[in-house]
Amino acid sequence: NINDDRKSVIHDVLNENNIILTTVERTLNWARGNSIWPLTFGLACCAIEMMATAASRYDLARFGYEVFRPSPRQADLMIIAGTITKKMKPAVQRIYEQMPEPKYVIAMGNCAISGGPFAESYNVVPGGDEFLPVDVYIPGCPPRPEALIHGFLQLKKKIQS
Ligand code: SF4
Repeated sequence: NINDDRKSVIHDVLNENNIILTTVERTLNWARGNSIWPLTFGLACCAIEMMATAASRYDLARFGYEVFRPSPRQADLMIIAGTITKKMKPAVQRIYEQMPEPKYVIAMGNCAISGGPFAESYNVVPGGDEFLPVDVYIPGCPPRPEALIHGFLQLKKKIQS
């Protein structure tokens, strides 16, 4: 009958063009990019700058990123802030796995990018992307809060595009 034919044509058009799904996904990504919830944890000295970023002077709240969560189940961003020792690696990996999708990773500082000054050490992982899908890299030893904010905004661009 006519109704069934119409439905099937509309269904085909939507399927071919992903009209509804694209729009919903765009809206969700717009919201995600403006309300990133980072996980509260640090591995070494870079974490001090991460803490400063969340304090009043740098006012991370103006971007919507101030809701640091103590539980991985409530966070969608892992900031690797500091040196990853081989002993700590399984714990970091486990915390990442406990975060719900979609989730993102920022490598903050030279240690998180490549092992930094400890790259040749027997007990340091030479970079977070050895075992995690890093989205944004922020160089520095340590990077200043402005650099971390810039990293957040790069991640926002990535999420929203
Ligand atoms: Fe410390 Fe520098 Fe490594 Fe950051 S990059 S954790 S400041 S040694």
